[in-house]
Amino acid sequence: MHACGHDAHTAMLMGAATVMVANKDKIPGNVVFVFQPAEEGPSDIDVFAKEKKSWGAKRMVEEGIIDRFKIQAMFGVHVMSSAHTGEITYKAGPALNSADGFRIQMSGKQTHGSMPWAGTDPIVAAAHTITGMQTIVSRQANLLQGMGVVSVGSIHAGNAGNIIPGELTMEGTIRSNSPDIRNSMLKELPALVKNTATTHHVHAEVNIAQMMPVTINNEELTHAMVPALQRASNGKAKELKTGQSASEDFAYYAEKVPGLFVFLGATPPGKDLSKVAANHHPAFFVDDATLATGVRSHVEFVLGYADWTKTKNR
Ligand SMILES: [Zn+2]
Ligand SMILES: [Zn+2]
Repeated sequence: MHACGHDAHTAMLMGAATVMVANKDKIPGNVVFVFQPAEEGPSDIDVFAKEKKSWGAKRMVEEGIIDRFKIQAMFGVHVMSSAHTGEITYKAGPALNSADGFRIQMSGKQTHGSMPWAGTDPIVAAAHTITGMQTIVSRQANLLQGMGVVSVGSIHAGNAGNIIPGELTMEGTIRSNSPDIRNSMLKELPALVKNTATTHHVHAEVNIAQMMPVTINNEELTHAMVPALQRASNGKAKELKTGQSASEDFAYYAEKVPGLFVFLGATPPGKDLSKVAANHHPAFFVDDATLATGVRSHVEFVLGYADWTKTKNR
């Protein structure tokens, strides 16, 4: 299982839809309920395929959900085991990091480990490449704008300790809380890989998969919705000092219209937060009692947004 709370999110939005449909006469304007297909995956079904097929929020944006329903603002709620039931946390500006992937294939010339001069070594080329990657952020990104991370999580090459293999494949991930840093990392990485490989007489193919942009909560909308969040949580809404390292395809909506994505605590009261399983852990647990706060959040978003736009247009 993905273990992130998708069932809870679906239940909360169903609950909110039930409440709002029953009180249709009290709801100004139109409300679109957008469920989240493909919450568990990246933005494309196969991110490294030549012809990409998107899904989830990216697909819905491509298919015109924003224009079709004349959506003016988007709201989202995600459960988190790092806070207690009924508590809402939010952050204006960058709230969740971008996520992109890369796959690097290096081809050298196989030779025996006793005579490396007779071949070209993709393993040494990869070692230099991985170390070099760590300088993309530390030497080139403007860290006044945010942060960035490049991590290699898989390397496959060779099958005998005394043979230098001809082929190597590695995959990794790129994360940032700044669109500018993200873009510069996506641009710099292929050049660094290719140039490093060339130095070692190895050929490198780099495949970058752009998955999730930085999820940015609109500053003005976020601040305007704080009273709504306090109503939904009985005064238990708190601003976060930093964003979260995870990623969300909600980012695609928030690129098109002002968006606000908030976090809802899901650990029963009294439980020690330092000991609970994080989201995505097999033991991840959502306290059903928090669903009520989630339903209220969705309803309060709608009422709060309608009030706010009324006063803004007055
Ligand atoms: Zn999730
Ligand atoms: Zn998840």
